[in-house]
Amino acid sequence: MLNYQMLIGGQWCEAMSAERIESIDPYSTKPWSTIPRGGAEDAKAAIDAAHAAFKDGPWSQMNPTVRGALIRKLADLIVRDADKLAGIEVQDNGKLLVEMTAQLRYVPQWYYYYAGLADKVEGHVLPIDRPGMMSYVRYEPVGVVVGITPWNSPLMLTACKLAPALAAGCTVVLKPSEHTSASTLEFVKLFEEAGFPPGVVNVVTGYGSELGEALVGDRRVRKIAFTGGEQGGRQVAMRAAQDFKHVTLELGGKSPNIVFDDADLDNAVKGAISGIFAATGQTCIAGSRLLVQDSIYDSFLARVVDFARQARIGDPRDPDTQVGPMTTTVQLEKVLEYIGIAQSEGARCVLGGKRLGEDNWFIEPTIFADVTNDMRIAQEEVFGPVLSVIRFKDEDDAIRIANDSLYGLACGIWTQSMNRAFKVAHAIEAGTVWVNTYRVASVMAPFGGFKQSGLGRENGIEAIYNYLETKTVWINYENDVPNPFVMRI
Ligand code: NAD
Repeated sequence: MLNYQMLIGGQWCEAMSAERIESIDPYSTKPWSTIPRGGAEDAKAAIDAAHAAFKDGPWSQMNPTVRGALIRKLADLIVRDADKLAGIEVQDNGKLLVEMTAQLRYVPQWYYYYAGLADKVEGHVLPIDRPGMMSYVRYEPVGVVVGITPWNSPLMLTACKLAPALAAGCTVVLKPSEHTSASTLEFVKLFEEAGFPPGVVNVVTGYGSELGEALVGDRRVRKIAFTGGEQGGRQVAMRAAQDFKHVTLELGGKSPNIVFDDADLDNAVKGAISGIFAATGQTCIAGSRLLVQDSIYDSFLARVVDFARQARIGDPRDPDTQVGPMTTTVQLEKVLEYIGIAQSEGARCVLGGKRLGEDNWFIEPTIFADVTNDMRIAQEEVFGPVLSVIRFKDEDDAIRIANDSLYGLACGIWTQSMNRAFKVAHAIEAGTVWVNTYRVASVMAPFGGFKQSGLGRENGIEAIYNYLETKTVWINYENDVPNPFVMRI
């Protein structure tokens, strides 16, 4: 059993309470390590360290080219350790080793990308309309950032926050999910090796209700980057509003994956499967509503069922496994409850619908046909391998059903008509739209949600401005201060 410690101000430490939380391997369902159960006092200590490193330390004042070089060095170390870190993530969240390895091998790109931006944030001189004045805009780091992450892709979702925050000159306190903190604690060892000053990056571990809320409530924190569920996101936003912190929220979804009758159906079947059964459906961008055009509904449904029936369920470390376990017992119970809800609502279960045995956390790939969009199974995020298949008549009907959701994170469109692809892509209320593909992501592509899927965007050049304040400087070069009782406009 491994016992991890937290990192505060460059020191490895226990929680003040000395209590620990067990991390459970979702495949064996046995504990394999423990993490400290941090609380309010630990939150304060971590923010003390990040605040001191921001105010007094060299980081925020460092030549940005040097800062970029350090971030690049960190990225090189992640390249070296990617496979090891991926193995730890699988141990904690039970996702497929092939997927987590691919993720971890790509994670360094976040640090390379934003390292390159560190010395390219340019202010500008304004063509100002006040005579005798020179006016310019500069960008300054916001200060202490708190990054809160969920259990499904710990280090990738950390990278979306940490890489731009560091490049901007901020200092950071990370709070990974209480279910999957090990990879983050292992990863931050690399900061010391890369030569970062202490206190620039700190990690505290514990529950959202104890530790997370204390971090969010601290007045010295100026920016919160949160990825997680809608309920946690709402609490974070409300608490952060008390002292007007900047907030980015990446929340849940109920994304439509729309198959038109003119689609390449071989590809569309694979798109439907990857939308919902990849990552055992435990992904915010799951294409959990499959919208299929009337004329091909029955035949397409049969093909998807046939494909899903052959999915190999098992050990996530086995390269042949396609569907792994649920990550937590809470998720397991929640998904089983939604399967019951779908049945009671009159949806027709055409595949799966059951837990596989009592000693493990597997749920069969499950498909419900004859779902209507007003059912709870079509409106609420399940976060598991449960697909709702909904019928539509034409383009307008598909757009109406797709947009009839509280969420707006992502959407897939399968068609061979270019006109239709553009028209539907522009009409959909979602932060990401994929045409003839699904579940593609890049550090270069802004990502986030419309409506209750979130607030703000991560990734791409614009994300670095999430961690910068805009300052306007006015210089009077006329020397003459006119009527002091009247504003100069
Ligand atoms: P969660 O909201 O339960 O927890 C996420 C993190 O927030 C954890 O670290 C948790 O401890 C913390 N937290 C919870 N309540 C908090 C509070 N009141 N104050 C401060 N911190 C708090 O989510 P989860 O179950 O870990 O993850 C699943 C959810 O994450 C799903 O809804 C999924 O859609 C969403 N998600 C979104 C994205 C995205 O990019 N949009 C990506 C992955 C997951």
